[in-house]
Amino acid sequence: MRLARQGEHCGPGGLCARTCAALLQTLLVLSLFGLASPARAAGQVLLYASATTRAFLPGVGGQQEALLQPWRRLLTARRLPHRESSHPADLEALKAEDVLILPSAVALDGPERQALLRLRDRGVHLLVTWSAGSRDARGRWTGHQFAQELTGFTIRGELEPAAKRLFLLPHGDTALNLQLPAGRRIWLGELAERPLRLSGGQSGASYLDWARTVLRRGDAEAAIVYDEGGGRRGGSGRRVQFGYAETAWSFSPADYEALAEQALTWLLRQPRAQIAAWPNGARAAQLIEMDTEDGFANAIHFAELMEHMNAAGTFYCLSSEARRHPELLRRLATKHEVSFHGEVHFGFRGLPRDKQLRRLERMLAEIGEVLGSRDGWPAGAGRGFRAPTESYDETTEALLVALGFEHHAADPQRSPDRLPMLVWPAAASPVVHPEGSAGPASLPLVVLPRGQLDDLNYMDLMLGADDVGQAVVAEYEFNLQLGGLGLLSVHSQNFADPQRWLARPRHTPLMTLALEALVRHVGPRHDRAWIAPGDRIAHWWRERSRVRLDSRPADDRLELELQVGGEQPVQGLTLLLPLRHEGRSPQLRAQPSSPAAQARLRTLDRFTAALVFAELPPGRHRLSVSLP
Ligand SMILES: [Zn+2]
Repeated sequence: MRLARQGEHCGPGGLCARTCAALLQTLLVLSLFGLASPARAAGQVLLYASATTRAFLPGVGGQQEALLQPWRRLLTARRLPHRESSHPADLEALKAEDVLILPSAVALDGPERQALLRLRDRGVHLLVTWSAGSRDARGRWTGHQFAQELTGFTIRGELEPAAKRLFLLPHGDTALNLQLPAGRRIWLGELAERPLRLSGGQSGASYLDWARTVLRRGDAEAAIVYDEGGGRRGGSGRRVQFGYAETAWSFSPADYEALAEQALTWLLRQPRAQIAAWPNGARAAQLIEMDTEDGFANAIHFAELMEHMNAAGTFYCLSSEARRHPELLRRLATKHEVSFHGEVHFGFRGLPRDKQLRRLERMLAEIGEVLGSRDGWPAGAGRGFRAPTESYDETTEALLVALGFEHHAADPQRSPDRLPMLVWPAAASPVVHPEGSAGPASLPLVVLPRGQLDDLNYMDLMLGADDVGQAVVAEYEFNLQLGGLGLLSVHSQNFADPQRWLARPRHTPLMTLALEALVRHVGPRHDRAWIAPGDRIAHWWRERSRVRLDSRPADDRLELELQVGGEQPVQGLTLLLPLRHEGRSPQLRAQPSSPAAQARLRTLDRFTAALVFAELPPGRHRLSVSLP
């Protein structure tokens, strides 16, 4: 169903495509409510089924049940105490600690509107989805003014189908989402209920295409927004708006339910904690790497620019080129990570295991000839690999593990999420390294997916240097919103000296200029983004996997137990604590002798605090956090 035009009918995937059988089942469960619900939250949840919307939808081929059903299923499955009502009078009874869910209430009459605005003024928390009150009691289009007045957020219009931004990408490690991995591609479908583009408050998720194309600031428009108090006529309570209708949930029920449940948890001000993706309170991680091959000598510009940012990058080196530049390779290895990009520039996918092994061994040997050898590995080199043309298979990864590699910087297809992955290749049997050092791998391989455009993608889009510079800066900022892993990949042949590249017509200075723009933007201080080489990011991901968190909420308190496995302390672990009230800091209680007592409390944003543990030794650590 289109919102803005009258008389259009619901498409085949729309509101009408639901069965009565499922409905009956849910009604049976509904009748049992209240008996089994553990009433832990102070507030109650009311699911409001507007009678005006119910009467309007069949005329456009829709059905309100399709919008209510996902909520009933979620609220029942998670045993959240709640009621359902169609009477505006029940809205008047809600108190400030309660939560109202207004599910795609497209049509609202006068009394409903007035009751909703009064409830907002009393500070009742609101979860509004898709369109609220864009049609009046008779189904006539009235625009988005009412919804904007109710929530304080701005509706910028519908998502245009031509834009192909058909994925919802949750931002990770926010007060609204601690569960879903940052940047996961969650399919929105091409429903008749076109998602709404939102702004205002804090953004909790963005609309993007599969490739996550961000060319300018603001390209990633908000799909979820949230805020508390003080908003534009928004009342004093907490407010969340989902830009999409409940009909989208069926494409990926677990993901959409996780977003909805977490929104309710935040609105109900329930305490919770989670281990952050990144160490030391950093908001996001950023790997900037060069596939160093043809035009190897251009690597020096890249190294110098990274050093201007006080940051280190990774050079995945084609060994047949690297050995022709021994001085430069040694220079790169002093401040950056020198890792591996094959020995010649042909892909690995589909090659027999023996052939792949010989190629990898030759690559290691050629870099070892330049850097020397230490503990059976090229001295000072990293343990990362990036396949030529991103072409590899499971055999490649099994061999990487067996040879002692620790990370693989892979293609964008590799993961739906924009975070590192721990992978144990099935066929990872030990190989005997020529120097006899490599044993069977006990550690997993960390795969770093390239979840963003690279220089070849920018060239396919026919962008000029200024546009690419702008895109690289916009992507960096978007990654800070996302809380994910940024992996900016450039090729050495596109990193020519802007003054002298005409001598090598197949080279371009495209990415030299783009990285210069990024360096100007970021500067030498960048606390929020952890700019690090691939090996350090991979190492951190392994470290993080050694820690388990058990958290038990009790009123305004959390009882936490951290269990650190392994033999060594973990450094920089960060626990995220969504605030129950803006501006009220949590308080940590732990035995003074406990290493947990040394944690530093930091404020990350208006709604989230963090506990940063400089060093946490192996074993169990108990602590209690009060969240006023
Ligand atoms: Zn390459």
